Amino acid sequence: MDGTGAPSLGNALFVISDGRILSVGAATPEAVKALPVGTQVIPADGKWIIPGLIDAHVHAESDDDLKTMLNRGVTSVRLMAEDVAGARALAAASRERRDIPEVFPAAPIFTAKGGWWDQGEPADAHVDRFPTTAEAARAAVRKAKELGSTEIKLMLDDMSWCRAPKPPLPRMKPEVAKALIAEARRAGLRATVHAPKLADAKEAIADGATALAHGVIEPLDDATIAAMKKRSIFYIPTMDIFEFLADTRAFVDRVLSDPAVTKPGGLPKETIARYRTPEYSDGYRRRYPNFENVKRNLPALRENLRRLHAAGVPVALGTDMWAFPGLGVSIEMDLYAEAGFSPLEALRSAAVTSARSLGIERDRGTLEPGKRADFLVLSEDPLRDVRNVRKISEIYKNGAKVGPIVADAAPAR
Ligand SMILES: [Zn+2]
Repeated sequence: MDGTGAPSLGNALFVISDGRILSVGAATPEAVKALPVGTQVIPADGKWIIPGLIDAHVHAESDDDLKTMLNRGVTSVRLMAEDVAGARALAAASRERRDIPEVFPAAPIFTAKGGWWDQGEPADAHVDRFPTTAEAARAAVRKAKELGSTEIKLMLDDMSWCRAPKPPLPRMKPEVAKALIAEARRAGLRATVHAPKLADAKEAIADGATALAHGVIEPLDDATIAAMKKRSIFYIPTMDIFEFLADTRAFVDRVLSDPAVTKPGGLPKETIARYRTPEYSDGYRRRYPNFENVKRNLPALRENLRRLHAAGVPVALGTDMWAFPGLGVSIEMDLYAEAGFSPLEALRSAAVTSARSLGIERDRGTLEPGKRADFLVLSEDPLRDVRNVRKISEIYKNGAKVGPIVADAAPAR
């Protein structure tokens, strides 16, 4: 399954060399005979090969989170990060490392002082993450670019939709958001915006955002969908987070009901036990007390996703899923399937469309000659059931077999 949209190729010969895909074709006796002397042949009878998964919205609490993501078949990630220099260093290391996905940072994360993502999250060592004027905003983007940033993230959210009746958090001033996005675009950087409320999302789109980092919880109007389509603004729904916040207990129970998740080599026993305690879900209810509002808006979230996809707006799969690193991608695929995506469409969101959202589609996202050999070998057909994406026999990053490692790393929280 090469991810281009073409039907799966049976009896395929998939040839890689030096971390690159050389060819994809039929495994005829002549083709096998024509392989260069010394070629290692790995039989994969009865298996499926798909592109490595690309998660377009992650945070990593720790190196272990990144290791767990790769071990679940995620070979590239957009990492939302506070510190540009630190994120650049991690990105550079990730190109060589065999134990984590390749990291593409969106950094820094701009917000208002005391606002969402200034609740104990670190500052950037060199860039002001909390500019209060348009001029300071432009200077901060220039500094971020100087330090190597290729994408910034903005928070446009008072968080009332999930935190009321707690007081709304300070939200970035419109002139600051506008200046950040305009300067980023001028400098050739992408600008991804966290804006789950419709009014904030519309503001981000009008300002020139390149992607929405989350779904929008209120029904989208036709004009907004048309604007997103016209400018090819990426929609990164993170449906899993809304489902998680709406009813943490039900979400966790649902994920843990899949034997592929709880089997030996799946989630660590202690993690499963902790997630099943009332304290775990109650903690989220305390932190996000407006869960009823989130729950009420789930049908609108699903309908927005369905309508945007039908309209041809690019949907890049992102999870933001701290509780189930890596596994979040297949959970998210299930939710796209429920919103009407075919398995192939869900897979393409998680591969080629995510790659496009990062500007790496010439190198990733499909299995085509010349692209990097990032791929998974599955034991069951993912086009029959998207959940089969969890049945991973082998993971390859840059042409090297990197997993799965059965002694799995525990998620950080
Ligand atoms: Zn996020």
